[in-house]
Amino acid sequence: MSKKNQSPMKLLMLITLLVFAVIAALVVINNMKPEQNVSPSTEEGPSIEGQPVLGESDAPVTVVEFGDFKCPACKAWGQNIFPKLVEDYVDTGKVKFSYINVLFHGDESKLGSVAAEAVYKQNPVSYWDFNKALFDAQPDVDHDSLWITMEKINEVASTIPGIDTDQLEKDIQSQDIIDEVNNDSALVEEHKVQQTPSIMVNGTMLEDPFDYEKIKSLIDQALEDK
Ligand code: CA
Repeated sequence: MSKKNQSPMKLLMLITLLVFAVIAALVVINNMKPEQNVSPSTEEGPSIEGQPVLGESDAPVTVVEFGDFKCPACKAWGQNIFPKLVEDYVDTGKVKFSYINVLFHGDESKLGSVAAEAVYKQNPVSYWDFNKALFDAQPDVDHDSLWITMEKINEVASTIPGIDTDQLEKDIQSQDIIDEVNNDSALVEEHKVQQTPSIMVNGTMLEDPFDYEKIKSLIDQALEDK
């Protein structure tokens, strides 16, 4: 074969490679499209369907807290880590945050949880204020003593605009609300939650929920992978 004939051959190979590259790129782009239709649940993390959500519903990353109103570490997490997460990621539209009830401390955990679910059902806008106010009401000393009572629930709820406390007391007894708490307990079991708070970034459970640098790096990585 003469040198003259090699050039068209090379050109032909280049064109063929280029065509394949374009086809490959189109296939990749096509495969990416379904992922842009973000559903309310994450693919790997817990389903947050029907759960209270803070932030944009189409935020690309989901952070879930498994929490217990009786748990002092959850109160500390809410005071120290949560505000940073909200400022850095929720308010900027990158993360949606959800809270799932854990009943590790018995009847009081349950009463706090049904009350929070009842508030959410009645007025979703008031949910996060109630969640925070109930944690704020947790005694700093002797948190194991009885403090989540119907009286305390009413007292906390009455400080938040948009909650009808008579309706709240009725809803707390309703099967709908109890089902919501049972649904949360099923998620706790499914994701093998051993401690509260437990924090999940998409499908990854944090070993140390107070390691904010780790939370940030998981979120940043998930944002990069999008
Ligand atoms: Ca729930």
